[in-house]
Amino acid sequence: SEPLLRIRDLKVGFSSHGKTLPAVRGLDVELSKGEVLGIVGESGSGKSLGMLASLGLQARNAVVSGSVVFKGQELIGRPRRDMRALRGSEISMIFQDPLSSLNPVMTVGDQIREALLLHTKSMTKAQATARVLELLQLVAIPQPDRRINQYPHEFSGGMRQRVMIAMAIANNPELLVADEPTTALDVTVQAQIMRMLRDLKEKLGLALILITHDLGVVAGHADRVAVIYAGLVVEEAEVRELFANPRHPYTRGLIASIPKLTASKDKLYSIPGAPPMLGALPEGCAFHPRCSFAQDVCRKVAPATIELGRHRASCHFAETLPPWGESARAAQS
Ligand code: SF4
Ligand code: MG
Repeated sequence: SEPLLRIRDLKVGFSSHGKTLPAVRGLDVELSKGEVLGIVGESGSGKSLGMLASLGLQARNAVVSGSVVFKGQELIGRPRRDMRALRGSEISMIFQDPLSSLNPVMTVGDQIREALLLHTKSMTKAQATARVLELLQLVAIPQPDRRINQYPHEFSGGMRQRVMIAMAIANNPELLVADEPTTALDVTVQAQIMRMLRDLKEKLGLALILITHDLGVVAGHADRVAVIYAGLVVEEAEVRELFANPRHPYTRGLIASIPKLTASKDKLYSIPGAPPMLGALPEGCAFHPRCSFAQDVCRKVAPATIELGRHRASCHFAETLPPWGESARAAQS
């Protein structure tokens, strides 16, 4: 069946001194109705940039090309006005920092009501209030009839993120894009928010895109994961397959960097080096300066994408890397 969202060869670049510096170099992802896709990469990998550009939220000086088809309609090239109407109704987004997205001098109830009325003009005030209370209940905010009249500063970070989620689902979107939704929160609250997002997905039939730098966040919550490095998807697979059998050295590094509750802090692995700066892309495989498996070919030739069933990876050695077992993991960390 037709996917809900299909992104093909999406490129985002920035003009500088007559050249276009590539930030997203050809993103390909697909999402079905009701599916959860994790998009994982370090900061600067292009993961947020690519998703935002897909939804018409690129900077004015960005050059965007490729194809983004949502429910059979091409979004690239649509007027900003159309994209605004689509966002908040059929597609919603939540971001890392709810405090900066909420209005500090407006009650939480009024802000959710405003989000509702932006897309549903025919609602009475009483209907809107009833819907706001229902939404606060959906995101498990206790005592909604008291909370509805409070201001954002009266909410904890986790509760504020719930308010943002209530606003995001107010108009029954089919797709929710969450960009680092739990990064600012402590671990316990993170887990609660992730569980709640998953419950909402089940209840409302939402498709969910989780953008995060933390592969650990998607482990228990995504159906599929796309790993992004230097503006390209370098590996994509179903979540269990990705963790059991990672075929790209970068993914292996990310898995080895996930903090484990049992490991002491000083033993935590981190991938050496840093992702390339915009306009300073290494030749060949962009990951080669940081890759412990790199060979001469990697410094010269960009790897093609190898498809192994529903698992794809862009590494010259995707099929010949040593198996990923306890010993490989230990060697890495
Ligand atoms: Fe490493 Fe080479 Fe694979 Fe790139 S292509 S990830 S440098 S082994
Ligand atoms: Mg980001």
